[in-house]
Amino acid sequence: APAPAANFIRNIIDEQNAAGKWGGRVETRFPPEPNGYLHLGHAKSICLNFGLARDYGGVCHLRFDDTNPEKEEQEYVDSIVESVKWLGFDWGTHLYFASNYFDTMYACAEYLIQAGHAYVDSLTADEMRAYRGTLTEKGKDSPYRNRSVEENLDLFRRMKAGEFPDGAHVLRAKIDMASPNINLRDPAIYRIKHATHHNTGDTWCIYPMYTYAHPIEDAIEHITHSICTLEFEDQRPFYDWLLDKLAIGGFFTRPLPQQIEFARLNLTYVVLSKRKLIQLVEEKHVSGWDDPRMPTLVGARRRGYTPEGFRRFTDQIGVSKSDGWIDYSVFEACQRDVLNDSALRRVAVLDPVRLIIDNYPEGQSEDCFAPNHPQQPELGKRAIPFSRELWIEREDFEETPPKGYFRLFPGNSVRLRYGYVVKCTGCDKDAAGNITAVHCDYLPDTKSGTPGADSVKVKGNIHWVSAAHAIETEVRLYDRLFRTAQPGQETGNFLDDLNADSVKVIRAQLEPALKDAAPEASFQFERHGYFVADRSDTRPGAPVFNRTVTLKDSWVK
Ligand code: ATP
Ligand code: MG
Ligand code: MG
Repeated sequence: APAPAANFIRNIIDEQNAAGKWGGRVETRFPPEPNGYLHLGHAKSICLNFGLARDYGGVCHLRFDDTNPEKEEQEYVDSIVESVKWLGFDWGTHLYFASNYFDTMYACAEYLIQAGHAYVDSLTADEMRAYRGTLTEKGKDSPYRNRSVEENLDLFRRMKAGEFPDGAHVLRAKIDMASPNINLRDPAIYRIKHATHHNTGDTWCIYPMYTYAHPIEDAIEHITHSICTLEFEDQRPFYDWLLDKLAIGGFFTRPLPQQIEFARLNLTYVVLSKRKLIQLVEEKHVSGWDDPRMPTLVGARRRGYTPEGFRRFTDQIGVSKSDGWIDYSVFEACQRDVLNDSALRRVAVLDPVRLIIDNYPEGQSEDCFAPNHPQQPELGKRAIPFSRELWIEREDFEETPPKGYFRLFPGNSVRLRYGYVVKCTGCDKDAAGNITAVHCDYLPDTKSGTPGADSVKVKGNIHWVSAAHAIETEVRLYDRLFRTAQPGQETGNFLDDLNADSVKVIRAQLEPALKDAAPEASFQFERHGYFVADRSDTRPGAPVFNRTVTLKDSWVK
């Protein structure tokens, strides 16, 4: 494999390794909150964290950041596990749940109180906000800020014991209400919440705040590099303050984990926010989390996107410190490149009309041979049956051809790919004037792969399947779920930009070799694009196909 491209995170690690900071150890984590399904943005973080661990001979933890009792469910845990595995990453024995650290987090909080670094505040939420100040105005000390250690400990223990209702008190770090960084103006670290937790049940009625819990989780797991998105940059001073105090208290040893921020993935034509994704599912704009149009990893999988395509994409876009937008076509191009290498070629007629070869004997058939992969001859050829009546694409015949049209029209000859040259003689129509069949004669000496194949030169080359041998199946042609690059940018409501024609369900005629396609097998349907056998709806002998991506970018402006 090629050496991974340098980026600023790798540079930091290389410098630290040269200085011997971690003794060569690289330990990262991917820390999802189990409150939704993973999306394409998460894939960037997964590939980054697991990729660093892989390249530096380290480990990456899969940690469920489940410190918030609300909205967290086992269904999400299971799906996250499956998606990270599907992307091709392995956490070994390093699967963790942050809620298993509640005891340590609580002990750390008592220590902070005893050391004079935390206090119980009893202001209301509104009062606390007013005391916090603004960017231009310093904060003010709460009247409860100078409570004694004894009073703080007593109140905190009674918070834990369930003596107070939600919101009555919070535990705050005691730092600096005049700090220019608002995150250092005595941030809340524990709040009262009488809620049942999916893992710890009703054991707790106080829960740590994310910004307090996360550094402790990292330190407990001996994480070296805690990589997160840019919006946490202003939290880094608190991250460092907290772990420094807890190291002094003997909870953790140095060197302490280092937070490093990178730019999140912003991708055009999709939405990457759990809130919006939930809305798409709940309001039934899509069929579910795994709808092939969803930018979730379960949706991507069902769409036929490949893990390798994801890895190629994240390698290509790199990691940086500045926010920007990546065009969806970049993602599609990576997927297309991977599928071009891996997908076997097959023939499918998506908009069938009958082609009758009048001079071919009725009831007769023969085999034509087509390569499974033109760039990989070692994958061999397969037989495609040929007979008197074929299905061809409706657009491959024109009664009155436009200029430059080289396919079938009366008097013109084309090659039936892998088969014979045929000369068009006319067509049949119904009473309404719709074409019901196209007629032709074949030139018996011109079969592909025989000495006479090149005796007749033609410009057109069309694909076909034998009507008597074809299998008819459902095929779904997907398009983008949104019409605009940044959904909701104009009106403020992303739903206004839904593409009303994002899926077309058709009945197609496929060559018989596709009959036994396994769920999740990907193919290139010649001239049409890449298609995958739907992992949910495919039955033995009865595949259903989803179009993953067209052969060329059809969205070029
Ligand atoms: P959302 O904002 O949609 O609710 P989140 O960031 O809260 O998502 P988490 O489950 O907390 O979701 O995310 C787990 C990890 O994935 C975090 O480390 C986060 O930084 C990373 N992540 C989430 N979204 C993106 C993105 N668009 N690009 C890169 N990394 C992301
Ligand atoms: Mg989050
Ligand atoms: Mg978020």
